[in-house]
Amino acid sequence: RAAAPRGSWSSESSGSSGCWEPQYRVVLLGDPGVGKTSLANAFAGVQERDLLEQHGEVAYERTLSVDGEETTLLVIDAWEPERRESWHRSHCLQVGNAYVIVYSITDHGSFESAAELRIQLRSMRQAEDIPIILVGNKSDLVRCREVSVEARACAMMFDCKFIETSAALQHNVAELFEGVVRQLRLRLEGKEA
Ligand code: GDP
Repeated sequence: RAAAPRGSWSSESSGSSGCWEPQYRVVLLGDPGVGKTSLANAFAGVQERDLLEQHGEVAYERTLSVDGEETTLLVIDAWEPERRESWHRSHCLQVGNAYVIVYSITDHGSFESAAELRIQLRSMRQAEDIPIILVGNKSDLVRCREVSVEARACAMMFDCKFIETSAALQHNVAELFEGVVRQLRLRLEGKEA
C-alpha cells in the first residue's frame, strides 16, 4: 500500500479505524540537515512525496510486509530542535513507539547531538523498553566522512541498533524501517511471553 498523508499524529489511538494491522508511531530525531525529511520521503515513496509536501504533512503512513507479516508504521518528521516551546520537544519524545535518531556521517556535531538525544530519551522514557535505532545518514558522501563506523560501538553502549543509510541513493532505507518493525515485534513478543 502506498503512503498516505495523515492529519493527526498526536492521537493516542493505535491502528486506523477498520484496519486490523498493528500500527506504530516512529519518530525521527536529529539535528537540522542530517536527512530526516529525505529518509521520510524515501520511506513514503517518490510518487507520494510532492503530494505530501504540498499538504505540509509531517507524518507518513505505510504498511510494510516484513517476514511475511504486515505492520503499519506512521513515520513522524516533526522534530524541530530550534523551536522554543519545550512542550513540542517533550511531546515528540513521549509520542513514539520507536525512535530513529539520525546524524550525518559528514557532521561530527550531529553525532554528538544524537548522543544527547539518546540521553534525553532515556531519562524521559526510563521505565519503557522502546526501540531506538541510531542512523548514520549520507553514507554516499565517503570523502566528507567525519564520523567513523566506530559509531556502531557507541550504539551498543547506548543500547541502540545501528545502521548507515543514504537517503540520496536509497541505500539501506528499506532495511532501516524493516529493522524498526522487527524491534517492535520483539518487544511485543517479550510482553506476551
Ligand atoms: P532534515 O533537516 O534532517 O530533514 O534534512 P533534509 O532531509 O532536509 O536534508 C538536508 C540536505 O541533505 C538536503 O539538501 C538533502 O538533499 C541532503 N541529503 C539528505 N540525505 C542525504 C544523503 O543520504 N546523501 C546526500 N548526499 N545528501 C543527503
